[in-house]
Amino acid sequence: MERRRVGHVDVIALIDNVQTYPAGAVYPEAGGALARFAGYLDRDGGLTLNFAAFVVRDGATTVLVDTGWGPELNGRLLAELAEAGVSLDDIDIVTFTHLHGDHTGWNLDRATGKPLFPRARYLVPTGDWDHYDAATPPTDSFTRDMLPLQATGRLELIDGEHSLSPGLTTLPTPGHTPGHTSLMISSSGEHGCILGDVVISMIDAEVPSLKTAFDSDHSMARATREATIARLASEGSLVGASHLPAPGFGRFSIGSGTSRWLAD
Ligand SMILES: [Zn+2]
Repeated sequence: MERRRVGHVDVIALIDNVQTYPAGAVYPEAGGALARFAGYLDRDGGLTLNFAAFVVRDGATTVLVDTGWGPELNGRLLAELAEAGVSLDDIDIVTFTHLHGDHTGWNLDRATGKPLFPRARYLVPTGDWDHYDAATPPTDSFTRDMLPLQATGRLELIDGEHSLSPGLTTLPTPGHTPGHTSLMISSSGEHGCILGDVVISMIDAEVPSLKTAFDSDHSMARATREATIARLASEGSLVGASHLPAPGFGRFSIGSGTSRWLAD
């Protein structure tokens, strides 16, 4: 659990889990190009991904962005929230960057089937809802985490740039999934972004054109990745990224035509 500030907005990174994947499986078309990134990999070519969620507090509004893997993978989200002094009752809004299972796991109390955050509205990008609602067969996580949530009446679909508070506005960043959406922070002249999976490692921060195994539409993901990195670098934004090294805070810098992730 770590905190940063963007103007008057508090941002807390919660680490649900950390897992290592073969880099060659994450970037299936990279081939020998991965050799240059050996410093980011373990001895066996494994790429360690953080699985983060973020609490963002703007005045009286407390937002949780994404809900991690959930209890089945020994997720630590609830312990991290407790460590941060944030109770389940404190969350006004849960918003999702997208509906992959590593971002929806703590939606519901498994024992009661009720929303785990008892007062929260749960905001879902329409593009992702429509995509996963139409999938046959449905994904396990959609069936487990989203359909029962919809049945509680607590779920709301959002589109485009949607204001959550004076300093917090959603921004569509499609490609990783059809409705992928980031959360932009603007407060007292400072900028921040809860990025989601637009960039998942220091490798695609440096080579945004690289195809990842997890993007649903590579060319759209690439265009979004390049444009978003350029915008966040030019704004000097503090970025909270789901899968960059824990705790997931950093900034993008662009120099000599190359982009980089600088941990913050
Ligand atoms: Zn993810």
